[in-house]
Amino acid sequence: MEVRVLFWAFWLDHPLPSLKGGGNFSFLMTLRINEIFFSIQGESTWTGLPCLFVRLAGCPLRCIYCDTGYAFREGSPRTIDSLVDEVLANPCLLVEITGGEPLAQRNVHGLITRLLDAGRTVLIETSGAIDTEPVDPRAHVILDIKTPDSGESERMVWKNLDQLRPHDEVKFVIASRGDYEFARAVTQERNLIGRCRAVLFSPVHEQKQGLEILGAAGLAPRQLAEWILEDRLAVRLQIQLHKVIWDPQTRGV
Ligand code: SF4
Repeated sequence: MEVRVLFWAFWLDHPLPSLKGGGNFSFLMTLRINEIFFSIQGESTWTGLPCLFVRLAGCPLRCIYCDTGYAFREGSPRTIDSLVDEVLANPCLLVEITGGEPLAQRNVHGLITRLLDAGRTVLIETSGAIDTEPVDPRAHVILDIKTPDSGESERMVWKNLDQLRPHDEVKFVIASRGDYEFARAVTQERNLIGRCRAVLFSPVHEQKQGLEILGAAGLAPRQLAEWILEDRLAVRLQIQLHKVIWDPQTRGV
């Protein structure tokens, strides 16, 4: 078994104290945080809105096109209390919990519930490889479905599709025609359109070799648009807006 798989198995079986909602032990609850930043939401139907991002460190996956490889290794422990204080000090009402894979740290549920209780709209960006059942139902889950070219499609927890709520969203990051056909088949066979707020098809943004995990060739947005139109597929083409506004390698945006 790979070392990273062993590590995550240990992490998931030995979480730090976890009490949904915080309770009197919230000062004991910690999360490993990579960065907190205020930017423009660049993905999902919330695109274009100012948003406060909380990026958790660590991820058990290694998608070939990953653009946040630095989150695997860089992170510091923070108490839930200190995170809530920092987030609520910002008047922005839209908060995204992202990663890495935020649901890999079980204590994240305490943070999510505390922020929802405080009146924030909370988006959860997740890989699809972790069970979403424990997520507070008031949060908006943006669920990735990993395509074959990601190299991680076998990690998908398929029951997450059965747990979608009407306000959740599903996202496919598409690298090739094969990925597109996979995404189209899952969308149709699982009847995703109409079951959730949006089905997002997002072309892989070209990565420079060596800067991320393996590097990945991009897929032209126009090509993906033409495939969607040819099939009259009622999905939403998504371009990562933050990579249009800023240099794609810029962190903290
Ligand atoms: S799930 Fe997300 S953070 Fe993890 S490797 Fe894949 S793209 Fe990167």
